[in-house]
Amino acid sequence: MASTDVAQARRIVTEIPGPKSQALQERRKKAVAQGVGSVLPVYVQRAGGGIVEDIDGNSLIDFGSGIAVTNVGNADPRVAERAGEQLSRFTHTCFMVNPYEGYVEVAEALNRLTPGEHEKRSVLLNSGAEAVENAVKIARSATGRQAVVVFDHAYHGRTNLTMALTAKNMPYKHGFGPFAGEVHRIPMAYPFRWPTGPQECGREAAAQAIDQITKQVGAENVAAVLIEPIQGEGGFIVPGEGFLPELADFCRDNGIVFVADEVQTGFARTGRMFACEHEGVVPDLITTAKGIAGGLPLAAVTGRADLMDAVHGGGLGGTYGGNPAACAAALASIEAIESDGLVERAEAIGERMLSRLRALADEHGIIGDVRGRGAMVAIELVQGPDDKTPNGEALGKVVSYCHKQGLVLLTAGTYGNVIRMLPPLVIGDDLLDEGLSIIEEAFDRL
Ligand SMILES: *Cc1c(COP(=O)(O)O)cnc(C)c1O
Repeated sequence: MASTDVAQARRIVTEIPGPKSQALQERRKKAVAQGVGSVLPVYVQRAGGGIVEDIDGNSLIDFGSGIAVTNVGNADPRVAERAGEQLSRFTHTCFMVNPYEGYVEVAEALNRLTPGEHEKRSVLLNSGAEAVENAVKIARSATGRQAVVVFDHAYHGRTNLTMALTAKNMPYKHGFGPFAGEVHRIPMAYPFRWPTGPQECGREAAAQAIDQITKQVGAENVAAVLIEPIQGEGGFIVPGEGFLPELADFCRDNGIVFVADEVQTGFARTGRMFACEHEGVVPDLITTAKGIAGGLPLAAVTGRADLMDAVHGGGLGGTYGGNPAACAAALASIEAIESDGLVERAEAIGERMLSRLRALADEHGIIGDVRGRGAMVAIELVQGPDDKTPNGEALGKVVSYCHKQGLVLLTAGTYGNVIRMLPPLVIGDDLLDEGLSIIEEAFDRL
C-alpha cells in the first residue's frame, strides 16, 4: 500500500471544531453562500490514509472519504505525482479542440473494467450529475423515446434534470422547480420497509415496478430505467435480491436502456469493482464519478457501443470534460485499486464493520437495520424493536457525539435516520476499529 506522511492516529487537541476552524467558519459566513452546507466544519490542513488533519492540529478518523471519492486515500502519492506531471506539461486544451492520450486511456480503462464483455464506448464529463444527464441524452437519442423511470429514495444530482430524477424534496429540490418532464417514479425494493418483509421484497417489488411501467407509462415509451444498484443518499438501500436482474431482463425484452448509476458505488467501494457485479447484472449504460480519480473532478458514461455511437457528432461533450490532470489522476487511481487489491480490501472492511455493527444492533433496539456491501455500510435508526418509525433525534445525538470525538461520519436517508460509513479503502484496521468503538460508545451513552 502507498505510504502517506500523514500520521495514522487519531489525535484531539482542541474542542471540535477548534478555535481556528470556528474563526474560519465566521469568515466563511460572510463570503460563501449559506445554501452550501458542511457536515462537520473543521477546516482541513492535510489528509491521507484514514486521517483528516485540521488547522487546529486535530487528526480525525475519516469514515466519509469526501462522500465515497477518496477510495484510494487522500493525496495518494501516485495520484498526486501523475496529476502533477500532467499539470506541468499542459493543463487544458479541450478534448473537443485538441485531443490527448489520457482521455483515450481512461475510456479504454472504463470499457475494460465495467461489467460485460461487449464492445463499449465512453464519454468523459465533470460531475456525477452531468454523467447522469448525458446517460439520459444518449438513451433518448438511441431509442427515439422520452420517458425515464426512476425510483423512490433515488439520488442522481442537483442540476435541473437530475433534480427531477432525485426523489427527496428537502434540501435537494425545494423551491427549485419547475422540473424536467417525462420522469416517472416507482417504488424501490427496500427490504427493511417492504410491507411483506425482506424475503419476498425483490420479487414483489420487481413485479410491481414492471406493472407500473407497462400500465402507467407504456414500455414502448420508456427510453431508460435509471437506478443506483445500492442507493446512496437514499440510505444505502441494498435492493431486495433479484430486483435488479429482473428489471434488467425486463428492459432487455422491451428495448429499454438499463442505466446503472454507479457514481457512489463504483471503483471497488462495495467489494466489487462495480456494485452491479454482486448480482451479475450487465447494464447497458453505467455512470461513474466520485471514486474514479482519487479526488479530482471527473465523471463518465460507459456503455454499449451501439447506444453510445447512436448520438450525432458534436452531440456530447463540454469544455472541461475529461480534463487532462483529472484523467492522469484517474489512471493512477485505477492502477492503485488494481495493484493494491482494494476490491478485496473493501470486502474485508465490510465484513469487519458489519459484524461489529450487527452485534451492536443486538444490544440497542433503536438500531432497526444494519446493511451494506463492502466499505459502504449503514445503520438505520428507529423508535424500537417493534416500531420502525424513523428516529432522527437519536441519529443527531450519535453523530454529534462521534464528531466531537474526532470521527468524520455522514448521514443519509429519505427520513434523515441513517448513519452511513464510507471509509477510504486504505484505512488501517486499527483506525477502523477505533472508529467503530466511538460509534459503540455513542450508542451506550444515549
Ligand atoms: C453524488 C451522486 C451523484 C451526483 O454526483 P455529483 O458529482 O455530485 O454531481 C449522482 N448519482 C449518485 C448515485 C451519487 O451518489
